[in-house]
Amino acid sequence: MKAVVYQEPYSVAVQEVEDARIEHPGDVVIKVTTTAICGSDLHMYEGRTGAESGIVFGHENMGIVEETGSGVVSLRKGDRVVLPFNVACGFCANCLGGKTGFCLTVNPGFAGGAYGYVSMGPYRGGQAEYLRVPFADFNCLKLPPGREHEDDFALLADIFPTGYHATELAQVGPGDTVSVFGAGPVGLMAAYSAMLRGAARVFVVDRQPDRLRLAEEIGATAIDFGRADAAEQIKEHTEGAGTDKGIDAVGYQATVSEGEEQPAVVLNTLVEAVRPTGLLGVAGLYVTEDPGGPSESARHGELLFRMGRFFEKGLRMGTGQANVKAYNRQLRDLIIAGRAEPSFVVSHRLPLEQAPEAYDRFDKRENGWTKVLLKPEL
Ligand code: NAD
Ligand code: ZN
Repeated sequence: MKAVVYQEPYSVAVQEVEDARIEHPGDVVIKVTTTAICGSDLHMYEGRTGAESGIVFGHENMGIVEETGSGVVSLRKGDRVVLPFNVACGFCANCLGGKTGFCLTVNPGFAGGAYGYVSMGPYRGGQAEYLRVPFADFNCLKLPPGREHEDDFALLADIFPTGYHATELAQVGPGDTVSVFGAGPVGLMAAYSAMLRGAARVFVVDRQPDRLRLAEEIGATAIDFGRADAAEQIKEHTEGAGTDKGIDAVGYQATVSEGEEQPAVVLNTLVEAVRPTGLLGVAGLYVTEDPGGPSESARHGELLFRMGRFFEKGLRMGTGQANVKAYNRQLRDLIIAGRAEPSFVVSHRLPLEQAPEAYDRFDKRENGWTKVLLKPEL
C-alpha cells in the first residue's frame, strides 16, 4: 500500500510500505478516506524531534472498517469511523478517568500513544491507504453511514476536540472574554469552541492575514501581533485588565523559528494578556528533545518562563495532550445536529501523492494553506 514516509528534515515521500494488518484480536484495519496534516507533524518534519527516517506520519484519521480482529465486538466491515489521535487501552487508571491522552498501558510514563508520532508508541500513521487500529472497540468513534459531513467529522480526530480541550483547561464559560494565541487550525478550533461554550468576546492573535480573516469570519476579534504588542492590544479592548481566560495554541515552534535562544515568548505574553486570577489552557506543544535546539537548554525544551509574573497575578494553567475521547462523541453530535461546522478551517483536499508539496506549503504557512486533508481515494 502507499503511505507518506518521513525521509529527513523537510522531506517526505509517498512510497510503498508493508500492508496494514490485524496484529491482535482487538484490532481492526480501516480503509482511510480522509487523513489530515497537523501542526504537530511539523515538529517531526522540521527535524525538531528524534523521529527517524522511515516512519509513516498521520494521526488525524478516518475511514471505513475493512477487516475486524476475532475479539472485536462492536464494529463490522463497512462501518464508518473516526479515530481519536490518542491510542488508548480503555482500562488503565487514566483511561478509566477519561484521561485517554495519558494511557498508561500503551506508553507508561509519557504522554499516552498516538498514530505515526515519534515517542508515542509503535503505531504506524494513517497518511496511507490503510491503517491498523489497536483496541478498536475503544478507539473507534462510529459515524453515520454515507459521505455527509466527511470533512467536519475528520476534524474530530484531533483539532476540534483539541481546541475544545484548551477551552476546558481554561474553564471557558458563558460571558467570558478569551485570548487565543495562534490562528492555526488548533487556535481557530479553540476560538470556535470558546464561542460554542458561550464566551462573550474572543480575541485571536496571529500575524497571518488569511488566518486572522478566518478568525473574524467566526466572530472573533483579530489581533495582529506584527503591528504592536499583542497583550497591550488586548488590554486596550478590555479596560486595561486583560481577558478572563487565555489559550496558547502556538507552542514551541514559533519562537524557535525566529531564532530565539529561550523560546517562551508566547506563554509570557499570554500571562500579560489575561487578568489577575485568570486561567490559562496550553494546547501548543512544547517538545522536550530538540536535537537542533540552539543551546543546551533549548535542546531539552527548557523555557524562560516568567514565574514571578504568573505568581503575582494568581494565575492557573492547564497543559497537555487532548483527551480526545472525552469530547468527540458530543462534538460529533453537534455536527450531526447542524450546530457545529468545524470544516471552515479546511483549505485543501488533496490526493496522497501531493503530500510532499502539501507539507512544504503548509510548513511555510503559505497564504491560504490553513488545513490540508489528504484523500487516498482521489
Ligand atoms: P500551526 O503551526 O499551523 O499554527 C500556529 C500558529 O501560530 C501559526 O498560524 C503562526 O503564525 C502562529 N504564531 C506564531 N508565533 C506566534 C505568536 N508569537 N503569537 C501568536 N501566534 C503566533 O499549528 P496548529 O496545527 O494550529 O497547532 C498549534 C499547536 O498545537 C502546535 O504546537 C501543535 O503541535 C499543537 N497541538 C497540540 C495538540 C494537543 O493535544 N495538545 C494537538 C494538536 C496540535
Ligand atoms: Zn494533529
